Amino acid sequence: MEYRILGRTGLRVSAVALGCEGFVGKTPEAVRADFDYAAARGVNFVDIYASDPELRSNIGRALAGRRGDFIVQGHLCSTWEEGQYLRTRDPEKTLAAFEDLLARLETDYVDIGMIHYADQLSDWQAIVDGPILPLAERLKAEGRIRHIGLSSHNPAVAQQAAESGRIDVLMFSINPCYDLQPAGEDVEALWADESYASALHNIDPERERLYETCERLGVGIDVMKVYGGGDLLSEANSPFGRALTPVQCMEYALTRPGVAAVMVGCRTTAEMQAAIDWCGASAAERDYTAAIAGMERFTWQGHCMYCGHCAPCSVGIDIASVNKFYNLCPSDDDIPETVREHYRVLTHHAGECIGCGRCERNCPFDVEIVEGMRRATKRFGY
Ligand code: SF4
Ligand code: SF4
Repeated sequence: MEYRILGRTGLRVSAVALGCEGFVGKTPEAVRADFDYAAARGVNFVDIYASDPELRSNIGRALAGRRGDFIVQGHLCSTWEEGQYLRTRDPEKTLAAFEDLLARLETDYVDIGMIHYADQLSDWQAIVDGPILPLAERLKAEGRIRHIGLSSHNPAVAQQAAESGRIDVLMFSINPCYDLQPAGEDVEALWADESYASALHNIDPERERLYETCERLGVGIDVMKVYGGGDLLSEANSPFGRALTPVQCMEYALTRPGVAAVMVGCRTTAEMQAAIDWCGASAAERDYTAAIAGMERFTWQGHCMYCGHCAPCSVGIDIASVNKFYNLCPSDDDIPETVREHYRVLTHHAGECIGCGRCERNCPFDVEIVEGMRRATKRFGY
């Protein structure tokens, strides 16, 4: 298992993590067996958005005796009313649902209190101006929440939240399809056929800016919808008309700036294993470029995707990392200290580029890498 630091929380989370939706309807024994399977393979991070009391209790039983082995992301504003899940912004219902979560998990804290999803700017504003964020901050002061997060599908909302300084973690939907889409308040549009009916080019700049902002400010991202609800794994359902493998989807998400972990919702241990396989996968198995390059309607051109397909560089430069660190700097005069340090510890630097052009022949997205190395040399000084 690969472990990553979840932004400024400092938490060391497994890159492959568990969403809870796959546990719905299972017996307590089956949920415990799933946790056993995950734990044995190094998974230490779990997201619990569900308010279903039975599921919460089953997860509590699965955590019994090993609460400290798991980093738990529990959702605020997710309630259970009249036998079904409901999102709320009512502070009393939110608090009651949170108390219920702690009681059923048989714990007195969650590591991340995730404010359940906000896709509209007005909703985020209401969370900030109303009672929800102060409630989360009070729970944090009491030690019942260690860090505050927000889940969203809208990069415009997520950007405001990240820049507010009041959340440490962002749960965000990331996959190569959604990344093509402009920001919007209607989550359904992310997977609607009409949204993919006309040509789309390159990652939406707002999304790219969001990931870079999170990395720069230390807002740790954990990913949801990495398979696009399963559509990306199917040639028939994928907007691309091509199937990606679970490992390729994981690789795509885990190579976005700021991303520490992917929450994978799994019904079976085979599905869990398919995601965990990312850890031991070869570079060729992780490489998603063949599945998204060469399409007519959807293209990524001249823009680094951090895919690593250009490797190996003749002198050993990690081109994807150089490009990423370059993009994480607002300008030549504004290089964040953390980025400067990450660049410094690279084994080879952009200034060593001999301009052989080998990498450009390997890049499926026609990135002008030699020019990029020249710009990075100017920015970092070597
Ligand atoms: S330069 Fe091209 S091949 Fe290399 S990481 Fe970027 S997009 Fe991928
Ligand atoms: S052109 Fe520069 S970055 Fe590309 S392979 Fe050659 S030395 Fe490496």
